[in-house]
Amino acid sequence: MRIVECEVAVIGGGITGAGTLRDCALRGLKAVLIEKNDLASGTTGRNHGLLHSGARYAVQDPESAVECIAENRILKKIAHHCIENTGGLFVTLPDDDPGFHALLLQGCRAAGIECDEISADHARRLEPHLNPDIVAALKVPDGTIDPFRLTSANVLDAVEHGAKVMTHTEVTGLIVDRERIAGFNCLDKRTGEPFELRARVVVNASGVWGQKVCAWAGIDLPMFPSKGSMVIIDYRVNNVVINRCRPPADGDIIVPGDTVSLIGTTSKKIPYDEIEDLVVDDDEIEVLLADGEKLIPNVSRTRVLRAYCGVRPLVAVSGKTFGRDISRGIVLVDHLERDGAEGLVTIAGGKLMTYRLMAEMTADLVCRKLGRKAACSTRSTPLPGSGKKAPLKKTARRFSGIPQSVVGSTHYRHGERAHRFLSRDPKSYGLICECEMVTAGEVTYAVRHLMAKDLIDLRRRTRLGMGPCQGELCAYRAAGLFTELGPAKGDEATRMLIDFLEERFKGLKPVLWGDALRELEFTYWIYQGLFGLTELDRPSESDEAD
Ligand SMILES: Cc1cc2nc3c(=O)[nH]c(=O)nc-3n(C[C@H](O)[C@H](O)[C@H](O)COP(=O)(O)OP(=O)(O)OC[C@H]3O[C@@H](n4cnc5c(N)ncnc54)[C@H](O)[C@@H]3O)c2cc1C
Repeated sequence: MRIVECEVAVIGGGITGAGTLRDCALRGLKAVLIEKNDLASGTTGRNHGLLHSGARYAVQDPESAVECIAENRILKKIAHHCIENTGGLFVTLPDDDPGFHALLLQGCRAAGIECDEISADHARRLEPHLNPDIVAALKVPDGTIDPFRLTSANVLDAVEHGAKVMTHTEVTGLIVDRERIAGFNCLDKRTGEPFELRARVVVNASGVWGQKVCAWAGIDLPMFPSKGSMVIIDYRVNNVVINRCRPPADGDIIVPGDTVSLIGTTSKKIPYDEIEDLVVDDDEIEVLLADGEKLIPNVSRTRVLRAYCGVRPLVAVSGKTFGRDISRGIVLVDHLERDGAEGLVTIAGGKLMTYRLMAEMTADLVCRKLGRKAACSTRSTPLPGSGKKAPLKKTARRFSGIPQSVVGSTHYRHGERAHRFLSRDPKSYGLICECEMVTAGEVTYAVRHLMAKDLIDLRRRTRLGMGPCQGELCAYRAAGLFTELGPAKGDEATRMLIDFLEERFKGLKPVLWGDALRELEFTYWIYQGLFGLTELDRPSESDEAD
């Protein structure tokens, strides 16, 4: 059996694993990351993308609030191509306890979060679609962050610093060698090849799956699977993050993100064996839309695009029975100290927002275990895409002749790296996805450099298929490009197309009424009526004879 060797092996290609891989690679450690699906396919790709100021935690979880504001300031510098500095408001509605406003203000001040009391009129000037009945408002430095772009940029930088990443490869068990965790067994899900990855330190960054990884080593680290659901609406109804000024509850936040807005979130404890098979419940959609409408009345007149959910990777705390009561604090476990198991470290809890800090703490521990002295540099080293970029005006001049909307969105998504694939060759700027302005050049770059191995991965790298048509008019073009670029032959591209549409359908199914239903019917006409997609996927008679 093939054996791969390294110093640090990371399980999990969510933001925690990606950040840890990058930190280790920048310190000169030989590091490898294994992800069973795609990068950011776990909880990292299933959240609001809120760049917390920390205000949301300032009353109940001050430690997390302090971590959030510190990382908020760092990420705005090192990851600015993944961030929109929208600002945020906490607004009080007539039904809300007016006392919470003062508590929040006090909590923010104690945590060092800039928090200004502004009049209701001022709040409505900042966000004209806000409910006109609001009675009070606080302004905080919330923003939005694209979790897919952030994860991919961390991995790209790690790889450019010598790390290795294997996606669609599952860790199937730990290798124990004389009481030491010496690595793990892997299965390449695409080729079916099993292999061993041997490492001096194994980092378990597998989020809510961390409990399962620990159990392989006979270690009990119970997670508290708290499911949160969100709905996406078809327009960007707000430009500022809108939070309801009350203790965290369902439906109390609306986050703008690229071309859409998200209403979040619910909190439901689910049995651990349901984490693979998440479903958004009808009652969750009802409460999110009803409460979202209270913040921004336009929500009721806007088409719902899709619904999705994720599970918070919270480590269970005895006595706590509700997810919102558990701290979002970081849990770093050296299993040698806790359980006598040398070679295994678990990093869990925290937030997307605090991933860099979590990675720094983990890499510090890894270095101590390896006896290596290497300082963390991620506080100040920009991610690829967040380096020095030419102002948009200059880029636009350089690419004059190419539609400005294309130049603008490419520049926005990839920062200075856009120059690696945008060119005057009409093939490079030809549009594949009109909703999100994704070009053939960007698809090619994602396949060749960002490990997009199928259309679902491509969606996470580029936003292809995330806009109003949900892939209806771009998926077949992208599948065609995949065959042209080489990673998929004709039949494989057909299968990819089916998988992509089925994956999109999961998020559409809970919101199928009105315009969403009409749009889906149109998608069905194209893919089944016109292309006969499911017929194409069946083996031909001659194949069957073989
Ligand atoms: C509803 C909701 C809303 C949220 N909103 C926000 C927000 O707005 N802002 C914010 O900062 N945070 C938010 N969070 C929290 C944030 O999303 C998570 O803290 C963060 O994404 C966790 O990242 P992770 O890498 O630790 O876990 P994950 O992203 O789950 O990554 C773990 C990875 O491990 C992989 N894996 C598991 N088992 C194996 C195996 N055997 N072999 C190989 N790979 C394996 C999984 O496939 C997965 O990709 C939210 C969470 C939820 C649920």
